[in-house]
Amino acid sequence: MLKKTVLTNVFSRVFLSAVVATSLVAVTTLTACDKDNRSSTSAQEQTSTIIQGRTMGTFYAVNVVGGYKGGEEGLKALAEGAFKQICDEISTFDKNAELYKFNDFKSTEPFEISNELGKIIQDTVYQGRRIEGATDITVGPLVNLWGFGKDKKKDEAPSQDEIDKALELVGLDKFEVRTENNKTYLVKHNKDIKLDLATVGEGLGADAVAAKLVQEGYKNFMVNVAGASRSYGVNAKGKKWRLGIEDPTSPERRVFVPICALDKAVTTAGSYRNYFKDETTGKIFSHAIDPKTGYPVFHKTLSVTVISDSAFESDALDTGLLVLGAQKALDWGKEHGYAIATIEYDNGKPLFRYTDNFKQYLDCAKQQ
Ligand code: ADP
Ligand code: MG
Repeated sequence: MLKKTVLTNVFSRVFLSAVVATSLVAVTTLTACDKDNRSSTSAQEQTSTIIQGRTMGTFYAVNVVGGYKGGEEGLKALAEGAFKQICDEISTFDKNAELYKFNDFKSTEPFEISNELGKIIQDTVYQGRRIEGATDITVGPLVNLWGFGKDKKKDEAPSQDEIDKALELVGLDKFEVRTENNKTYLVKHNKDIKLDLATVGEGLGADAVAAKLVQEGYKNFMVNVAGASRSYGVNAKGKKWRLGIEDPTSPERRVFVPICALDKAVTTAGSYRNYFKDETTGKIFSHAIDPKTGYPVFHKTLSVTVISDSAFESDALDTGLLVLGAQKALDWGKEHGYAIATIEYDNGKPLFRYTDNFKQYLDCAKQQ
């Protein structure tokens, strides 16, 4: 019998993400998210404006080297404004959000949504199709069924019957996005279909804050929204930004390996913090759900890190690649030119593997 393991993690849903902090030097301070906001400076360092807070059920941190013109308050307003806009579109928890309303709309009639939400949906579907439909935003009913969504009340695994019923609502062909006269509509093919964009929330958030900072002329900064990170330029010490990929087997969230971000977007999906545990076999089921079987993944892959030009794109890919497992993720990265790293369980130890083009990010971190 499967029992839902109670999360000890205060950040609930998404904190299993493995990219933990801004500069590696700051890992310990910046992952302690409950600490007060502060600015840092020292003899060799530039002043930075650093803020931390909560969004989307997880944490965020922004570090602007040289200082943000509006100080901590201004930076917080910028970041939280960006997050609010995203949550207003994609939240499945907030009754006023567009996606919540669509999920609640029990009809197969066209439902008007904003063009922005339409684009997010279309782009996420596009990324999912590239990886065998393994990232599938129609998993909503399964996410709820397994207790990772809005109906967080289960402490036992659903029955096969329930899973089969939910699976009838899952598939990228189960809904469509229509555009007419510059308006966007979503059409359910079955009135019970529910979309879930949680997998791209962090990436969208990191991109949105980064875009605003670039627009305002900042050249050296880092944005982290849990497992999604965007960084540009150098840190306060004039060095390239470094990140730590977390050791999934470490309860203290030890950094498994440092990497340089090299002005790219880095995201990590992990299967090791938010999960079901089979109490009799000890088998762990992650919150990443295989849309083909209806079951959370339970293979040996613990995390998948994807580096690309957009945190949204990396975030849309990482959960699906986690579903596919390390070998397929690495093969896909090789074939499509993405830098990908995976951590698997190998005889009780974490095994780290990566595509050839991931090496530059590791080598840079060693040289710093
Ligand atoms: P991670 O930190 O592992 O990337 P995310 O929060 O980005 O996790 O995404 C996990 C969430 O995505 C789940 O909680 C669920 O809401 C949703 N999800 C689970 N499986 C899938 C899937 N196969 N495709 C799309 N979304 C999924
Ligand atoms: Mg993701």
